[in-house]
Amino acid sequence: MLKKPFVTKEKLEEIAAQVPTPFHIYDEAGIKENAKKVYEAFSWNKGFKEYFAVKATPNPFILKALHECGCGTDCSSYTELMLSEASGITGEDIMFSANETPTEEYELAAKLGGIINLDDITHIDFLKDTLGYIPETISCRYNPGGVFEISNGIMDNPGDAKYGMTKEQLFEAYRRLNEMGAKRLGLHAFLVSNTVTNDYYPELARTLFELVVEIKNELGIEIAFINLSGGVGIAYRPEDTPNDIAIIGEGVKKAFEDILIPAGLSDVAIYTEMGRFMLGPYGALVTRAVHEKHTYKEYIGVDACAANLMRPAMYGAYHHLTVMGKEDAPCDHKYDVVGSLCENNDKFAIDRMLPEIDKGDLIYIHDAGAHGFSMGYNYNGRLRSAEVMLHPDGTWDLIRRAEKPADYFATFDCFPEYGRLLK
Ligand SMILES: *Cc1c(COP(=O)(O)O)cnc(C)c1O
Repeated sequence: MLKKPFVTKEKLEEIAAQVPTPFHIYDEAGIKENAKKVYEAFSWNKGFKEYFAVKATPNPFILKALHECGCGTDCSSYTELMLSEASGITGEDIMFSANETPTEEYELAAKLGGIINLDDITHIDFLKDTLGYIPETISCRYNPGGVFEISNGIMDNPGDAKYGMTKEQLFEAYRRLNEMGAKRLGLHAFLVSNTVTNDYYPELARTLFELVVEIKNELGIEIAFINLSGGVGIAYRPEDTPNDIAIIGEGVKKAFEDILIPAGLSDVAIYTEMGRFMLGPYGALVTRAVHEKHTYKEYIGVDACAANLMRPAMYGAYHHLTVMGKEDAPCDHKYDVVGSLCENNDKFAIDRMLPEIDKGDLIYIHDAGAHGFSMGYNYNGRLRSAEVMLHPDGTWDLIRRAEKPADYFATFDCFPEYGRLLK
């Protein structure tokens, strides 16, 4: 698939005149159209809800845009819960899927009325001790162990993952939660990340639906909602075939009709907690070429670095690059496009064939909308960039300013002698 920026060079120059590069930009129209497609794909399920994984893009303007489309939030930490509340998203519009969870996080999740998803059986007592009660609506995270396979091979190794309960523990957990007064029980599993196949959700759904039938038969408990969590991937590479959410929704529907309806479980609600699929393609990191260097290789130095987008450095992840204004020029130059960190893995592209790049060119780094800004860090004293929302009518807003040195030094505010750093 040809990868095209969602914004023109002229618009980016207009923004860059006010918001210096590097910055992240998001496409509100794309985000909302995609969210609509997700809801259409699951419209056959009465209780369907997407809980956007806040960790992917923790910005209140993004959360609110998704909330307007019907999405809730999937939070995993105290500050993500705070962000959800600040965005006006509370109650059962919050899913709290955390692990190794401290008491104060459970307290805040319960105070906001969110649905708590327990990562371990021991957390039943931990939660009871923390809150003094067990919430009426509660969910358990399942880990089937072993390897997870679909038709085209092994996808991942849940047996090596720290998350979730074994099957035996899960059954015991439901038995106990039921005894303790829980009324609406949910099942959650997240087995594989960034799947570029339409088969992942349907296959996971089959596994979970069969389990829910077994739970009904063995324990007499009817699970009220099944949370397929995240893991639906995006086409980072031009040669990848993007997932089709309509086909995915149909596949889950087929499994629902094959397994749950005959078992008398047609009221089960389907939930998802997608992050990457909801935002990934609708965000980009915009940077400028500031240096060229010719040594053993050809380097283009840009003003962004791994502190703004860590995925290439951390996972060797591919992100497509467009040199703005040179979309039709021949890709006859081989470059390493690199950031400024004193870390040799700070490279957005290695041996990439691109048009000839001149200093001052804007480079658009695709698919940075999820797990992009949010994975940023301050290594080398590098500061986090601004975030900009491009609206459907072509206007735009700054939705987070860039960090300033004072932000970097803010945690020295208890030492008066360093006060001048905070100005
Ligand atoms: C990270 C995460 C998600 C989102 O995953 P994506 O791959 O971005 O869809 C959803 N739920 C939980 C519990 C997560 O940790």
